[in-house]
Amino acid sequence: MTARVLDGAAVARQIREELKPRVDAFTAKAGRPPGLGIVLVGDDPASDIYVRGKTKSAGETGLRADLERLPAATSLAELLRVVDRLNRSDVHDGILVQSPLPAAMGADAERCVFDAVDPAKDVDGFHPINVGRLVQNRDSLVACTPSGVIELLERSGVAIAGARAVVIGRSDIVGKPMALLLLHRHATVTICHSRTVDLPRIAAEADILVAAIGRAAFVTRAFVKPGAAVIDVGMNRLTDRAMVERIFSPGSNGRGTFERRGSVLIGDVHPEAAEVAGALSPVPGGVGPLTIAMLLKNTLTAAERRLVVGQV
Ligand code: NAP
Repeated sequence: MTARVLDGAAVARQIREELKPRVDAFTAKAGRPPGLGIVLVGDDPASDIYVRGKTKSAGETGLRADLERLPAATSLAELLRVVDRLNRSDVHDGILVQSPLPAAMGADAERCVFDAVDPAKDVDGFHPINVGRLVQNRDSLVACTPSGVIELLERSGVAIAGARAVVIGRSDIVGKPMALLLLHRHATVTICHSRTVDLPRIAAEADILVAAIGRAAFVTRAFVKPGAAVIDVGMNRLTDRAMVERIFSPGSNGRGTFERRGSVLIGDVHPEAAEVAGALSPVPGGVGPLTIAMLLKNTLTAAERRLVVGQV
């Protein structure tokens, strides 16, 4: 058996198309497009690629996206001043500070920044107010990656209510909100992490298995219940030939990409899991495009709410 592909890129395109009339209506009423302020600190190449993807996608959907690049040596105080300016900006409805921040900013920097963003403009859904509202299943701006996963499952016809769901990973930005969203849709949810004992056995009970770990090909076929829907959130770049040859079979696309580029992107799920799973999201082309689509959706939602309360 080979798993059905859960085509995140196609679902993301569909979501962006659905947003366009709402973007047009907002622009007509407000006299300007919905605006997103993106802040990138430092020169991490992966962050640079993500931020460019977000800016391009925003432009194609009719939103305004302004990227503010700050040097790696920026202090936390300087970054907070930029966030404050965006909080007070009339033309920015959403604010995104790209993670990770440079390590030199300190271990607590990300939390400080998330706390500083106006909850009404918190399109990443990381502010404690939005997280609290999510816990209580109240209307809120929800983290983009897990809400994208829900869109992918629902639009692909994967039943969530009553399903056994296992989320591997308990980060604030993926694992925890993912588990809450599944719970609110009536799945029976287990969260696993690095201290979980007998992880493959627990994972193999799942009808819906979400891997958000950050370890290449960690989830092998032993983790997968036959027929399960497997969502691969992980994004890992492999540059080690021996590892690539261990994971990808000869003649596979992964091997071909590695030979051409000297590196290949892989998720947390081993390619062999496709032989057992009923449905599987690919990497790339799975969760990544959905994360961007949900960011645009959150920005539009934030803009529409600001219009209603007269802040636009
Ligand atoms: P993170 O903050 O590093 O969290 C990783 C989680 O995985 C932690 O909860 C950790 O457990 C768990 N873990 C690590 N090693 C494990 C092991 N051996 N067994 C079981 N659990 C283990 O990462 P994240 O920010 O959630 O991101 C996870 C992955 O998703 C990364 O590859 C990231 O690049 C990717 N990602 C993709 C998108 C997208 O748009 N596609 C967006 C965000 C993130 P502990 O808590 O016990 O340490």
